[in-house]
Amino acid sequence: MKALVYSPEAVAKAFLDLVDYETPQDTEYSCLIKVLGCGVCGSDLLKLERALVKPDTVLGHEMVGEVFEINEALSKKYNLKKGDRIVSSHHVPCGKCNYCLNDKESLCSQFKSTNFNPGAFCEYLELSEDHLKHTVIKLNKETSNLSASFTEPVACCIKAIKKSGLLSHKGSANVLILGLGSIGLIIGRLINYYRKHKYLLHSSVSELHTQQNCDKKLEINLYGCDPIETKRKLAEESGFDKVFNDIAFISDPERPDYIFLSAGANICIDLAISYIRDGGTIIVFSSVPDNAKAFTNNEIYYKELSIISSYSPNLSDLKESYQLISENKIRVSDLISHTANLSNLGETIMKARKENGLKVYLDLGDRAVIRPPQP
Ligand SMILES: [Zn+2]
Ligand SMILES: [Zn+2]
Repeated sequence: MKALVYSPEAVAKAFLDLVDYETPQDTEYSCLIKVLGCGVCGSDLLKLERALVKPDTVLGHEMVGEVFEINEALSKKYNLKKGDRIVSSHHVPCGKCNYCLNDKESLCSQFKSTNFNPGAFCEYLELSEDHLKHTVIKLNKETSNLSASFTEPVACCIKAIKKSGLLSHKGSANVLILGLGSIGLIIGRLINYYRKHKYLLHSSVSELHTQQNCDKKLEINLYGCDPIETKRKLAEESGFDKVFNDIAFISDPERPDYIFLSAGANICIDLAISYIRDGGTIIVFSSVPDNAKAFTNNEIYYKELSIISSYSPNLSDLKESYQLISENKIRVSDLISHTANLSNLGETIMKARKENGLKVYLDLGDRAVIRPPQP
């Protein structure tokens, strides 16, 4: 099969090289998935740019695919048959360790060591039985491949919002999203959805959507900040109350109680600490090129700030995410600015960067079926 692998020499193609790669096979305890599409995540780009993976690694985890080969036993056990469209997260938590028991599944050692074989920037991948058991979601007919590929990134944002404590805030809160790329816009759209639906903390997913027993109104002012005008415009169309091109233009009454850091610049944490209100919460949600030189101990201490982070979703966030996407409660398809295929993904990523695009989508949905060689 064809696969895109990390190649330190392929500088002009975002370090991605198209190669012939051994087609994975299904086994007694795994099935074979035909990749239909995959979103390109900011974390994939960082791994490539900063050489955080070994040469010849196949990346790509925001996968949507189709069951291609599955044995009868697994098919019966998990109610999946050839042709079923699915999404799955790439990591599977163990569900038993101390991290898993405390809602920190992304720190579980099994979570960190499980993956698709290989990543999804290719034609076929093998999914383990653990994936079938815990992380695979079967898609309904109405959900497009492209929308479904957002299940993982939206789930990451759901987790960050829940972890921030915003949904149990009493009184009113100013929320600022620093960086309005696709992740910043998704966070904003989710917050907008939650505040409209009187989200009640600890309510189950179904209660959330039926709005029953919800007596808690979230009074949130939703602000965004980004130097790029097209992104600010999209934020305004997404329900943000006000957007800024520079955090310095925020007036005193608008100072945030919560800041989501979805921009990858070194200076963001310092800006957040100087502009946040006393008692506020900063949610670190992106990687930066270097760690900040100084840890502003006293500002954090005297202002009683909470600085938290969120990385990768829990299984329950994935389910909630797919529900929101499949029921059209949150719009995602317009966050793709560039679409590519396997032969031009690298060039398309470079182009998207040059044009200040949002997100790149690898589309394999319409390609001719290439059968993997039989063992
Ligand atoms: Zn991702
Ligand atoms: Zn665990």
